[in-house]
Amino acid sequence: MKPLTIAIDGPAASGKTTLGFHLARHLGYLFLDTGVLYRAATWAVQNRGIPIDDEAQVTQVAREVEIEISAPSESDGRHYTVRVDGDDVTSEIRAPQVEQAVSPVSAYPGVREALTRRMREIAAQGQVVMVGRDIGTVVIPDADLKLYVTASAEERARRRYLELQKRKKPLPYAEVLNGIRRRDRIDSQRAAAPLRAAPDAVHFDTTHLDIEGMFAAAKGLVEDC
Ligand code: C5P
Repeated sequence: MKPLTIAIDGPAASGKTTLGFHLARHLGYLFLDTGVLYRAATWAVQNRGIPIDDEAQVTQVAREVEIEISAPSESDGRHYTVRVDGDDVTSEIRAPQVEQAVSPVSAYPGVREALTRRMREIAAQGQVVMVGRDIGTVVIPDADLKLYVTASAEERARRRYLELQKRKKPLPYAEVLNGIRRRDRIDSQRAAAPLRAAPDAVHFDTTHLDIEGMFAAAKGLVEDC
């Protein structure tokens, strides 16, 4: 029997999103990259000119903002289209100013509560692969299969550096590595739902694996489940 709900957690650029996307496509399941919800809420906060240290207003935005994730509307390599209050923000949510602010915003308990509620509504439909930081520990702790995906910080920074070059938004490698380490630190040290492997998660180190290698190993886990 195939697992109906698959939770994949791990730090930035560990390969979890690519892996989750391919796994969902292979199984014919819905794919939800939950980082998109935190990024979209952060974009909305900044777009409304709200300072990110104003917890009350930031939380209010996370509660009321309309976030829609749908099939890709452009063939620019995107896996999905993200709209915030109707505006296509698919590429804006990857911009450096969002990347800088997303971890502090995600640390607010009220923001997490509002977005976790939306994630659980989606998970309740079953047949889903959900990717994030706290999916196996908090969002769907009863998931049928949990993976915790890691890779060294240097390898993750190398991947993100190459991805930014491909998107024609290059940044120096040292800056990318610092940004990744900073987000790792905030995400794993926050009080509310920190980045952590669930006790029953299968650990998966992708430092020396390419996409094909990751996918082959993950397919094996799904079949053994
Ligand atoms: O996965 P991605 O890098 O797009 O996530 C952006 C940020 O959103 C993370 O650094 C983290 O602060 C937050 N996040 C979270 N919980 C999740 C998914 C993402 O706190 N389930």
